[in-house]
Formats: sequence, structure tokens, C-alpha cells
Amino acid sequence: LGDGAVGGSAAGEAPKYPKGVVLGKDGKPCRSCTSGASFKAWASQTKASLNPTPKAASTIPATPKDCPADVETLGRSTWTLLHSIAATYPTTPTTTEQSDIKNFMRLFAKLYPCWVCAEDFQKYIEKEKIRTQSRDEFGNWLCEAHNEVNKKLGKPTFDCSKWQERWRTGWKD
Ligand code: FAD
Repeated sequence: LGDGAVGGSAAGEAPKYPKGVVLGKDGKPCRSCTSGASFKAWASQTKASLNPTPKAASTIPATPKDCPADVETLGRSTWTLLHSIAATYPTTPTTTEQSDIKNFMRLFAKLYPCWVCAEDFQKYIEKEKIRTQSRDEFGNWLCEAHNEVNKKLGKPTFDCSKWQERWRTGWKD
């Protein structure tokens, strides 16, 4: 994550939130900024403080599937949308189509619900100008942007020469 307010404890202070819980601008845990694991740890901590009698493991309900998105669920769905937009972007876009995709990406970077992710992405767009002269150019730009986030999170980078296979044509046999 970027430089957002992240839970944990300063020296000598009682921890209020488990490590990794990112706070929203309202000072409360931001679900779409926090990993599912950290959010679950916070939810258990909160429940335990409200009901100190421990429950038997078999009586703890499983996490429902239809909960608000955490940072991973939101990210995975969003990358799917963005790369799919690149896959259907024209091979020879008009000036208007190029301007539309640039405006969309800039607005997207402002409105992305994980605010720490959004701030870093806005900086990336400022530094690495959005390339839109063809489908392949935009798809590669997006792949590089995604790799920047992969690197930040310590994940392997993706081979951008394969972005169309992953998101448009399907893998070659
Ligand atoms: P994802 O990274 O979500 O990727 C989904 C699939 O895309 C992969 O399975 C792979 O097949 C393919 N893929 C991977 N890399 C590439 C690539 N370079 N080009 C094309 N296809 C690729 N999370 C944070 O914790 N902190 C952040 O600051 C943060 N910033 C984000 C910024 C943006 C704009 C977005 C959309 C998401 C951000 N995320 C952030 C979420 C993060 O990127 C992942 O989506 C999340 O961690 C889930 O990762 P994943 O391993 O399921 O795969």
C-alpha cells in the first residue's frame, strides 16, 4: 500500500486496529483499502471485545460470500474491467476516442474507492502519460501500470507481450 494511514500501534500505545487495517478519511477502517485478512482480524477483535466469552470454533459462522469488497476483490474485478476495456479499444482510435479513454482513466483514478491506491495511481498517471494511439499501445500502458502495482505489493510482474492473449484472444495452444 501507499502512504495511507495504516493500523497497528506506535511505541507505547495500545493498538486500536490490527496491523494492515487502512483507515478512511473519516478515521474509520476503510474496507475497500484493507486486505480481507486484516479486515477479518479487525472484525474478530471487535466481536471479541463485545462478547468476551470465546465461542467454540464449530459455532463461528463462515464469512458470507456477498460482503462489501475488500482491497483484493475490488482490485481483481477492476483490473478485469480495465484490461477488458483495453481489449475492445479500437486498433486505430479517433481523436475523440483517445480523449475519451484519457478522461475516463483520469476520472477513474480520482474515484477509485481505495483512496491510498487511488492516490498512487494518480501519481503514476502524472509520471507515465497515458498512451492511447492504438489498442496495443493502450493495452501495454495499462499492463505496465498494473505491473507497477504488482511490484509495490511484492507480486511477480506480468509479461506485457502477452496482454492480448490474457485479455482478448485467449492463450495460444
Ligand atoms: P490482480 O493483480 O488483481 O490481477 C488479476 C489478474 O490479472 C491476474 O490473475 C493476472 O492474470 C492478470 N495480470 C496480472 N498482472 C497483469 C498485468 N501487469 N497486465 C495484465 N494482466 C495482469 N492493492 C493494494 O493492496 N494496494 C494498492 O495500492 C493497490 N493499488 C491498486 C490500484 C489499482 C488501480 C487497482 C485496480 C488495484 C489496486 N490494488 C491495490 C489491488 C491489487 O492490484 C490486486 O488487484 C489485488 O491484490 C488482488 O491481486 P490478485 O493477485 O488477485 O491479481
